[in-house]
Amino acid sequence: RKKNKIMKRIKISELTNSEDFGSEVVVMGWVRTVRVSKNVAFIALNDGSSLRNAQIVADFSTINEDILSRIHTGTSLSVVGKLVESMGKGQKNEVQATKIEVLGDSDPDLYPMQAKRHSLEFLRENAHLRFRTNLFGAINRVRHHMIFAIHKFFNDRGFYNVHTPIITASDCEGAGEMFQVTTFDINNPPRTPEKEIDWSEDFFGRQTNLTVSGQLEGELAALALSQIYTFGPTFRAENSNTSRHLAEFWMIEPEVAFADIHDNMDLAEDMLKYLVQYALDNCAEDLEFLEQRLINEEKEKPQNERSAMTLREKLRFVLDNKFERITYTEAIEILKNSPDQKKNRFAYPIKEWGADLQSEHERYLVEKHFKKPVILTDYPKEIKAFYMKQNPDGKTVAAMDVLFPQIGEIIGGSQREEDLDKLTTRMKEMNIPAESMWWYLDTRRFGTVVHSGYGLGFERLMLFVTGMGNIRDVIPFPRTPKNAEF
Ligand code: ATP
Ligand code: MN
Repeated sequence: RKKNKIMKRIKISELTNSEDFGSEVVVMGWVRTVRVSKNVAFIALNDGSSLRNAQIVADFSTINEDILSRIHTGTSLSVVGKLVESMGKGQKNEVQATKIEVLGDSDPDLYPMQAKRHSLEFLRENAHLRFRTNLFGAINRVRHHMIFAIHKFFNDRGFYNVHTPIITASDCEGAGEMFQVTTFDINNPPRTPEKEIDWSEDFFGRQTNLTVSGQLEGELAALALSQIYTFGPTFRAENSNTSRHLAEFWMIEPEVAFADIHDNMDLAEDMLKYLVQYALDNCAEDLEFLEQRLINEEKEKPQNERSAMTLREKLRFVLDNKFERITYTEAIEILKNSPDQKKNRFAYPIKEWGADLQSEHERYLVEKHFKKPVILTDYPKEIKAFYMKQNPDGKTVAAMDVLFPQIGEIIGGSQREEDLDKLTTRMKEMNIPAESMWWYLDTRRFGTVVHSGYGLGFERLMLFVTGMGNIRDVIPFPRTPKNAEF
């Protein structure tokens, strides 16, 4: 028989729901706050399992002073105690500590995460510790649930997850600047007799980059497995310091054989609604916290800039409305005739058909004109990638962008050109070397079929679901220009 029964730690998310009063429990976590009154200290302990803290009551007659003097915000503790019903508001129970062990000290003069509200800017500079705030705990739990929901959505529909390469030799889309991958000594790379850098000497025997999209390889898989999706890291060296762009982000890219652009739009709309519903169903507590944060933030804004809807109302709003589906050409007409265009409120006024849409235009369509998510289709071929299905009009391609409130483009996709001749002709026009793409073109040579797909930026989805305003706050360790600390 064991003499010392080692008790198992109970997660605080479980503990806070327990009504097993009188039982002995062990909890571990990090101190959020300590409040001392008369002969007791009240310690709020959090272990990240939920927003809720365990309320620890440390009586001075039981817990010795040396231990108590070491308990500060940030200290990690192991607490053994008795679960008792709480008289206080806001919690069911509390733990009357019988034994407290300090696992790790935290110097109150040096610990950056004080028990007060910090600015998001400050928290970005302390991204190594911001997980320990209520806000980043909530965001990262929601992030996990969304990742899981994405896999569940596709798995339930018979899609296969395919890992596409992170290191690639092709800039498939010209989707932006790429990060180069090399093992060369950059001060002294091998050179050809003509003094050019000799890439044949590099690790892969050619120039390689970090991927900007898994689509081309995804297409290869879809033209055999019928329904696939990728969910991987994506890299774009775009030097744009916006609140919606990261240099390293995660993208979900389904690709479906025997599916046209209409099927593609249906899939995108179903997926987004599923994910939003999943968040409402599985992240209620964290969403409530995020919603309250937004309400507090809104109070500081002038009346006319405040949002009419709370976070969860915005989420439900997406569920309740069929996305508006219109063509690019129709959108240009709406924008040209809009009050924002006429009163010069656009930073980039719409000049003519063929112009690329800025996020201010996308948001106008969604937030002011239709007041619901919008799917724009049939863009001018000049502003879209070579692989998109050419429409019979000779001017447009079967592209589709899904536009969301606050965010603008959340999904970009298309039906793909499955006709070998049309595809290679377009590649020539756009100076894309067909020889190096032989493997991609082989799918059009051998058993080509109609197929479609799209890319969802995972952090753009996270912006929408959490109501956060800056993409740097919905990924644990953001990579942006001049920023790769942590
Ligand atoms: P944008 O016009 O907003 O820069 P894009 O048209 O370049 O986006 P796509 O190539 O269509 O983007 O990529 C598909 C999706 O990936 C986008 O709809 C968006 O959700 C997301 N995305 C694209 N670039 C970024 C980025 N730099 N950071 C985060 N997400 C991105
Ligand atoms: Mn796009």
